[in-house]
Amino acid sequence: MRTVSRGRFAPSPTGVLHVGNLRTAIVAYVAARSAGGDFVVRIEDLDRANSSFDHELSQIRDIRALGMEFDAAVVRQSDRFAVYDEVIADLTNRGLTYECFCSRREIREAASAPHGALPDGAYPGMCRDLSRAERDERRSGRSPAIRLRTDGEECELVDAIRGAYRGAVDDVVLRRNDGVPAYNLAVVVDDAWQGVTQVVRGDDLLSSTPRQIHLQRLLGHPTPEYAHVPLVLGADGERLAKRHGAVTLDDLAAVGESVDGVRDELLTSLGLPAGPLVEVARVFEWSLIMKSPWTIPTRWQTRG
Ligand code: GLU
Repeated sequence: MRTVSRGRFAPSPTGVLHVGNLRTAIVAYVAARSAGGDFVVRIEDLDRANSSFDHELSQIRDIRALGMEFDAAVVRQSDRFAVYDEVIADLTNRGLTYECFCSRREIREAASAPHGALPDGAYPGMCRDLSRAERDERRSGRSPAIRLRTDGEECELVDAIRGAYRGAVDDVVLRRNDGVPAYNLAVVVDDAWQGVTQVVRGDDLLSSTPRQIHLQRLLGHPTPEYAHVPLVLGADGERLAKRHGAVTLDDLAAVGESVDGVRDELLTSLGLPAGPLVEVARVFEWSLIMKSPWTIPTRWQTRG
């Protein structure tokens, strides 16, 4: 049987893609194509309040404008809530979940106390072992989130850019208390369902990868190859945002930058040659990719 490799880019449609997002998409695309694989786009619109169809359309337009072609229809997570609910029900039937009634504030306060080897922001476990009476009492006031029950496991990966990385697994939220399935669950379910073999994304998500690998194992899914791309920064050294200047394709067009010019600037910032992405894919190797964050060029730092 031929093993089909498949890469993906999975933006959240909460705004226009900035050059940091587009730079990550470029890596996802050329890496997938260099392995002779497919490339797909998944719209991560779980959070309906902050997502919009207009942003989805602009994101797809900008990805295409840079020369990325998709090999399957775009998948939208908001169409798949029933699937995520089924997976959560399965984990619950296996005794692997519990209800959590904590507010953000309670978690923040408890999490600031030292808790051994747990990762930053990890849930300290206040609701893990509530008695039935305690649960009934708490349930009367609020609707619960559903968390995964873990036991201090650790997971290790070898990232194609960052190298070996090991992290503890925590009781991650699977369904929020407003009923919305959580990112870490949906991403694992969808990468497996879509046959994704290579996950390329921003390196702010590296610390979430051990929990995703743990979930993959519980659900019997294969673990894809991972590559976490160093972030793009503004002039002040902070993670790129609108205030940093011309940061989207539209902004850059308004200050006279062509799409091909932006593409080439992003490619060279990554350590790759300039040119059409299909050609870059022919010479792509992980060892070429820059391992440190990149600051946008001075001429992009002001708005037109
Ligand atoms: N939707 C996430 C984001 O836009 C990316 C998730 C992923 O690639 O796993 O930050």
